[in-house]
Amino acid sequence: MIRNFFQSKSRNPIAERCDKDNFTKLRQKYDLYYRIAESQSGTRITIDGKELVMLASNEYLGLSQHPKVVEAGKKALEKWGSGTMGARSANGGRGFHRELEEELAEFLGKEACHVFAAGYLACMASITGFAQRGDIVLADKNLHSSLWDGIRLSMASVERFSHNKPAHLASVLEQLEAETPKLISVEGIYSMEGHIGALPEICELAERYNCFVSLDDAHGLGVLGNQGRGTANHFGLTDKIDIIAGSLSKSLASTGGFVAGSKACIEYMRTHCKQSIFSAAISPSQAACARAALKVMQEEPEWNQKLWENTRRYKALLDELGLDTWESETPAIPIVLGTREKAYYFWKHLWEKGVFSIISTAPGVPPGKDLVRTAISARHTEEDFQIIEAAIRYASSKR
Ligand code: PMP
Repeated sequence: MIRNFFQSKSRNPIAERCDKDNFTKLRQKYDLYYRIAESQSGTRITIDGKELVMLASNEYLGLSQHPKVVEAGKKALEKWGSGTMGARSANGGRGFHRELEEELAEFLGKEACHVFAAGYLACMASITGFAQRGDIVLADKNLHSSLWDGIRLSMASVERFSHNKPAHLASVLEQLEAETPKLISVEGIYSMEGHIGALPEICELAERYNCFVSLDDAHGLGVLGNQGRGTANHFGLTDKIDIIAGSLSKSLASTGGFVAGSKACIEYMRTHCKQSIFSAAISPSQAACARAALKVMQEEPEWNQKLWENTRRYKALLDELGLDTWESETPAIPIVLGTREKAYYFWKHLWEKGVFSIISTAPGVPPGKDLVRTAISARHTEEDFQIIEAAIRYASSKR
């Protein structure tokens, strides 16, 4: 009887799909993703007893182990407890949420800001909070998954334009009805490619065609602009961009996300976006760590300087070896190998020589762009660099 019960369970088509999925089997066989580090110290992590230099973290400024950031997290935990146990719209709002939002808004040069428990939620909300059925979202083809999910959920229709090609966006805009409300969705730094978004041209088009501009600057914050104020600030375009969304999980050394804009826009979004209305607010320690990191960013500019110094040094090495970095201009640097197999071996050779990277293959990247994603941190030391350089030279020689 009991046996029959379990047998009939495993025959349901969805459970069966889980048992048989080839892609999952492939992932498990090659053991590339979901790796667990047993310990971490600085830029070093240990996996299966092997110490590796982390060369794939989004922790651009290297602040997650900064004493001020760690201390702020501990204090918040002691003062407020572990969680918020509810949505901001209901019981979850606390004073530190308001403080973090005010500090972020001021830093970004916007009137108001709203913080979410994940960058993914914030970026979704940067679309669903504004676009609706009947509107058109103009989307760069290489947008992050969170933005695509936001676009789908918004029920607006979508027009894609070639990655970072404002000329193509212009030709798409030309064909649309002038009265239809339009939102342009772009990124400040594209995370996989390391490209800086062509914001000057995008803003010009937005003005000409009367479009709302929503910018995901998850990777630009802390990296570009005055004291790391991001890509809009870097181009002096903060006032031309309606919404700046981002993550707290990269330069701000925490987890969570935000959307900043005018008071009216942020209040409108608070009323309409499900990602905040129905999801618990960011926890006290997460918020406190982000606030502390934001302060460190402003008080200790040496982290940003070191980040760019390390980036230039690393990029020079890749250029010397003739590696294809997809014209990355930032600390997020892909090494394009072109096929899944070549990317796998490059990744494996780095691993053998003590360097942790991430492999990304089609359909995650366009066909022929299979790559190993690497990212530089301000925290990489001279000793790290020696290991990185030896590993990259080795992997490159085996191509
Ligand atoms: N936007 C972009 C461009 C990202 O790269 C990411 C995460 N990698 C997110 C949004 C989501 O941020 P989080 O990981 O903080 O949820």
